[in-house]
Amino acid sequence: MSEDKELFDEADIEETAVTVDDHDKKDDDEYEKICFMCRRPESKAGKMISLPNNINICTECMQKSFDTMSSSNINYNDLMNNIPNMPNISMIDLSTLQDQIPKKQKLKKKKEKPKEEETAKTLSIKDIPAPHKIKASLDEYVVGQDYAKKVMSVAVYNHYKRVYADKVDDIEIEKSNMLMIGPTGSGKTYLVKTLARLLDVPLAITDATSLTEAGYIGDDIESVVSKLLAAADNDVEKAEHGIIFVDEIDKLAKKKNTNQRDVSGESVQQGMLKLLEGSEVEVPVGANSKNAMVPLTTVDTKNILFICGGAFPELENVIKERLNKQSSIGFNADLKDKYDHDETVLQKVTVDDLKTFGMIPEFLGRLPVVFTLSGLTKEMLVQILKEPKNAILKQYKRLLALDEVKLEFEDGALEAIAEMALKKHTGARALRAILEEYMLDIMYEIPKDDSIGEVIITKEYIEHTGGPRILLRGQEPVRLEATEG
Ligand code: ADP
Repeated sequence: MSEDKELFDEADIEETAVTVDDHDKKDDDEYEKICFMCRRPESKAGKMISLPNNINICTECMQKSFDTMSSSNINYNDLMNNIPNMPNISMIDLSTLQDQIPKKQKLKKKKEKPKEEETAKTLSIKDIPAPHKIKASLDEYVVGQDYAKKVMSVAVYNHYKRVYADKVDDIEIEKSNMLMIGPTGSGKTYLVKTLARLLDVPLAITDATSLTEAGYIGDDIESVVSKLLAAADNDVEKAEHGIIFVDEIDKLAKKKNTNQRDVSGESVQQGMLKLLEGSEVEVPVGANSKNAMVPLTTVDTKNILFICGGAFPELENVIKERLNKQSSIGFNADLKDKYDHDETVLQKVTVDDLKTFGMIPEFLGRLPVVFTLSGLTKEMLVQILKEPKNAILKQYKRLLALDEVKLEFEDGALEAIAEMALKKHTGARALRAILEEYMLDIMYEIPKDDSIGEVIITKEYIEHTGGPRILLRGQEPVRLEATEG
């Protein structure tokens, strides 16, 4: 490397260092001060006394230190003067300790409330999109599940109305926490993710199976709030309007015939009651567990929307049993296997069925909006492949378009892919894996040959009885040989 170049590089580095520094300073203003001794943020511990080297101490800790000093008989003046002369004793440089608070453990300052609070509030209500608009936006991404989308749109609309509206009379609108029931891969998580993105609120997704009662190995229940705070960039106010999605909630069902203490099922349901209803929880900032070195803050879950989801695999049998029992009594006696092949049996779920399944009544009581998603059919899978805004096919087409190659799929090919996905019983999740397998060869071969202008994926290629159709630029179609495997 030439000398000139080196010089240039150094100047470059210096320049970036300055901007990073400035940026840090600006960032620091956005975060709350944290007491150097008790690690509480300014919002909890009150005004801080700032010492040199970025050290802040809350008045309480400062007072305690003075009290300790004055109650002991040590003459601090003498001590301080003699320390430098004492062998084996050195002073700790406090400024190096302060650097140990990582940025992710700092809290954002609460925004000051705008003076014209009235206008701000009414504005927020108007900002919430009407249910039909929420549903229309969901339609762009999620195929089918019309009923679920409708219920969710209304529930979310009501939830945020409740959050922003003043309490009129003594009527308090109940929280619209939801319980979603639907097979794996039918779009539960995807619906919630899309919803949070549309509403621009933070979202935390957690798996119920990883939760345990506080004090046992695993994440304790309040860790979900901590996750939400992280998703909200440590902004407590933002987190308090967020969404928490607890997946696999069916795994918390009461275990039948067990004498052991159930730390991961029923007791987690019990533990979640307070969160669902709304309570103030103390959560660690920037960490999953509380310990002495992590600052804590309080998050109120009153306005956090909880959505629980699960596949509830045995629930269908519970419902069928109930329906069969009902229909075998009296004059309406029906055939015993009437519901055995009924695809819509899950939609007939009642709270009592869920209780029989093993969910505790108090828990269900706090999830007033219950709805089901249907299993995906072949037609829906084909739609999922090509229609949503970010459909998988559109993604592959875009990738090949960057190589100036057109990619097409025959309808028969899409149906064949959907049929293969159906057999895997993992819903839409199987689609990507299957396509990936077929597209691998295409993505590998195409860039080799500049003359290829278009690739058509045929049914034969998917069924391993032929190859894709390749069109050369400005030439007639050519059929490639089938690839092995
Ligand atoms: P689960 O119901 O098990 O939570 P997911 O929501 O995680 O399933 O679905 C897995 C993936 O399948 C999603 O990321 C999404 O791309 C796709 N998917 C599932 N259902 C649909 C649907 N109804 N419309 C569009 N894409 C879907």
